[in-house]
Amino acid sequence: MDLELLRRLSEAHGVTGSEYGVAAVIKEELQVSGVRTYEDKFGNLFAEKGSGGRTLMVAAHTDEIGLIVKHIDEKGFIRFAKLGGIADQILPAQRVLIHGMKKKVQGVIGCKAVHVMKDEERKQLVTYDRMFIDTGATKEQLEGYGVRVGTPITFIRGLTELENDLVVGKAMDDRAGCYVLIEALKKANPENKVVAVFTVQEEVGLRGATMSANAVKPDIGIAIDTTIAGDHPELSEQDAPVRLGKGPTIVVADGRKDSLGGGMIANPLVRGWLMELAEKSGIPYQLEVLEGGTTDAAAIQMSQSGIPSACISIPSRYVHSFSEVISKKDLEGCVELLVKAMESKTPF
Ligand SMILES: [Zn+2]
Repeated sequence: MDLELLRRLSEAHGVTGSEYGVAAVIKEELQVSGVRTYEDKFGNLFAEKGSGGRTLMVAAHTDEIGLIVKHIDEKGFIRFAKLGGIADQILPAQRVLIHGMKKKVQGVIGCKAVHVMKDEERKQLVTYDRMFIDTGATKEQLEGYGVRVGTPITFIRGLTELENDLVVGKAMDDRAGCYVLIEALKKANPENKVVAVFTVQEEVGLRGATMSANAVKPDIGIAIDTTIAGDHPELSEQDAPVRLGKGPTIVVADGRKDSLGGGMIANPLVRGWLMELAEKSGIPYQLEVLEGGTTDAAAIQMSQSGIPSACISIPSRYVHSFSEVISKKDLEGCVELLVKAMESKTPF
């Protein structure tokens, strides 16, 4: 596999609403391979291949979870809001990059040290509104760098390999999906017209997929995303049965934890088609019912007068942290399955 491409995608900075840095990496990679790309007014990046009678839309989102400047105090300390679902307990001491219009500034997320906490404070979770970013700069310096209310903030974390084909890095959700979509587009000789969409603003409500599905008007939709692998000591198999290294996951249903509302029940024909392709090609896969999240496929499905859709997910440990762990084997299986889907007759 092309680990350097995955590294460039993971280490690119593209918090929700400011995804252009990621789109630039994808555009460059696809243009070298001769795949035509174009963008819409919001930054959704489209790439087309093939010219058959039906249109297959495949979406992977470019945005990553991150922060945005809310207030800068007189001394230059920055308060922030969260973009996407980030647990407060993973924030303290993280190193961040603040994307000033004139200069990018590094900083660290600060909060009260444990030594000066009262006994009851030590037992409590420090919430993000009691944290701040320290860049070392004064308010005046930050203004000079073009840092102001609304400036995007991303996390600084390089990609590293772990043992047994595992890789750890930031923003695997969903740069791993972007990687799969790029590689499949490069390899496939599509049976139909394939429109790949690298969508923006997924983490705040599938906004890019909603806009782009209405523009593409596909006959069928697939989202490529990451999902929760439960194979570590703090999750039981019954709570999260997906395993790293056991192949791509075909999502049967997903949505809110209490009701699976707001998500997607995958079209049985589309889901069955993907399962059959995997079985015929000897690609190991897993089935999943995901409680507590959804993907771009939910938005594609509800566009136009209803688009039969499904989702293929890449298993990931520590989803929505800055060190998400995935397996290179799953990534390769996912590319292989998506190539098969692009190259075969679609059920719709
Ligand atoms: Zn995602």
